Amino acid sequence: MNTFKKSIMHVGEMASGAKLTVPVYSFESEKSDTHSDITDTAPNVYIQANMHGAEVQGNAVIFQLLELLKHCKIQSDITLVPYANPVACNHKNGEYTLGRFDPITGVNWNRMYHFDESIIAPFAQQNIDASEDEIRVAFEKLLIDQIEQKLDHNIWGLTTGQRIAYQLQRMAHQADIVLDLHTGPISSKHLYCPEYAKASANYFDIPHTLFIPNDFDGAMDEATFCPWWCLQEAYKQLDRNFVMGEGAFAKESFTVELGSQEQIDLDVAHQDALGILSYLQYKGVIAISNDLEITSEDVPLQKAKSLGYQPQEMTRFACYLKDYKALYSPMGGMVDYLAEFGKPLPAGSPLVRILRMDNYGDGNPLHNVILDKEVLPILHFASASVNQGTELYKVFTNYFEI
Ligand code: ZN
Repeated sequence: MNTFKKSIMHVGEMASGAKLTVPVYSFESEKSDTHSDITDTAPNVYIQANMHGAEVQGNAVIFQLLELLKHCKIQSDITLVPYANPVACNHKNGEYTLGRFDPITGVNWNRMYHFDESIIAPFAQQNIDASEDEIRVAFEKLLIDQIEQKLDHNIWGLTTGQRIAYQLQRMAHQADIVLDLHTGPISSKHLYCPEYAKASANYFDIPHTLFIPNDFDGAMDEATFCPWWCLQEAYKQLDRNFVMGEGAFAKESFTVELGSQEQIDLDVAHQDALGILSYLQYKGVIAISNDLEITSEDVPLQKAKSLGYQPQEMTRFACYLKDYKALYSPMGGMVDYLAEFGKPLPAGSPLVRILRMDNYGDGNPLHNVILDKEVLPILHFASASVNQGTELYKVFTNYFEI
């Protein structure tokens, strides 16, 4: 039996003394018992949402996951954290939620996670003869110790954002699979997937995947897999070879972009949750269960009885991060966004039409913006009014089917 728990984590304090809190939901499997001798375990999972304030659909997806997981046979620990960033979540201005950048430091909330590469080489040298299991346990402990040093034994203190990020990261480091749920501005669904974990991209119900290299830039997904990737590379230097994604190095993390910001759709969230369960079943986190209670209106459960959660059939396009291009506006004006997401746009077709009423009567009030190569539009800016240099669209170039 799995134990379901809810707890409240304190991640900071406001000037008035009010506490900043984050709800933490978890399913703990039997193997977490200290007396259990099960060693062949399914991967533990950590899922968070809403690190960026306006990106709220992930909260709805966590709700639907919690509802669906009640009926699943869970074989590992799953931790789910909605409202991961209470500052960003409540950062409103007029009708809009801001919450992409810390308003005090200007730093992107998803660039504050910790990774100190200098720990890697000494660890590999000191543990050159350790078993794979010993490496996994010791390195995980080292990563968590580092975070705890930062949180609890640091006379210089932390920024508001670091304190939030590190507390989330402490939980993420205890997992083997990490999903960070985000959205674009106005956006299609797309997935940031480490290059070594390509096979997993086919299990999410997400039509667009970006394959990202092993570079750490402060984001949650990178902070999870980069240390293990670097460790595997350090062992390679010492003539000990491991396969990233397998055995002790069976770590995967993804940034899941669930569509557009500033909105939730519970029906879409249900579909999003089914896609995540399809991936979790593939990874052995949930079992294909024959003893589910079936109700007539609950099609997903009926499906689950025979096959479990299967990915939807769809055309999945991917590109490498280097081929994910931003198009910046060549001029100021009012933008009519023309290009549809996920539909190949031929070279020479306009992505946008820009209206300039100041030119009406004595100039050209309409300007098309075109590209000289075929692209796959993924997201666009949220407002029609743009300055010269505003990011209009992000598009896949040199994309391919997976
Ligand atoms: Zn985001």
